[in-house]
Amino acid sequence: MTAPSLRSISYGGGVQSTALLVLAAQQRIDFSLFLMANVGDDSENPATLRYIEEHARPFAAEHGIELVVLDRVKRDGSVETLMGRLTRPGSRSLPIPIRMSNGAPGQRSCTADFKIKVIGKELKRRGATAAAPATIGIGISVDEIHRANNRRVEPHEVITYPLLDLGLRRTDCARIIRDAGLPVPPKSSCFFCPFHRPETWHDQRRDEPELFEKSCQLEELLNKRRDELGKDHVYLTRFNRPLREAIPDGVDLLPMFDEADGLCDSGWCMT
Ligand code: SF4
Repeated sequence: MTAPSLRSISYGGGVQSTALLVLAAQQRIDFSLFLMANVGDDSENPATLRYIEEHARPFAAEHGIELVVLDRVKRDGSVETLMGRLTRPGSRSLPIPIRMSNGAPGQRSCTADFKIKVIGKELKRRGATAAAPATIGIGISVDEIHRANNRRVEPHEVITYPLLDLGLRRTDCARIIRDAGLPVPPKSSCFFCPFHRPETWHDQRRDEPELFEKSCQLEELLNKRRDELGKDHVYLTRFNRPLREAIPDGVDLLPMFDEADGLCDSGWCMT
């Protein structure tokens, strides 16, 4: 097989992949292209989008790294966002890992459609093929090694985990970012992601009440639609009740939740 020539990081705008940006700038890893698949300006954590514009982009430019934010563009040329797909009138689509009455997340297509395919399309546009696949680096750190699975490998790509190769943990990533003079970024994900830990929901309710309200409204819309179809309710948390009730206002949660809760299992999101 021809040696892969194209090398890119799947940049999520979170702590791990921002550490990769710093490591690339310091030439400790060999990547000069960072591709960020934007799930939508109305869907991604707004603080992540701000961080990218205010810190990551200027840092990348200063160090000769190409950082490209990619939208999901449909065949007709229009941009589709995940929130747009979820709220489109008449849509029955439930692409996110919505929680069923038993608390388990349903099957999702959001990561594939809004991250993997968007980056794959760009890699192919830049010349990646099955014969000459691109190397794509994903920011999984040693403490989250269980997320490093190659379940979704496309023929035009070879996945690699530079933080695992360097033996770095999430706390190391934060230190690397700080030492480079950058603020540590907020957690990246869709603000309404059903993989959020209860603590994350609680923080959102307390610190970003307008986002929490939007999350509640999304959940209500999805259930209104399910009522019309005669289907049972689904939720953004695993507590089998509406977000407003599941995450009460003003109560500080004790750290009593399962550590495994709250992380996307692929590394394409939340890195
Ligand atoms: S962050 Fe959550 S909702 Fe958003 S694309 Fe990833 S899995 Fe889907």
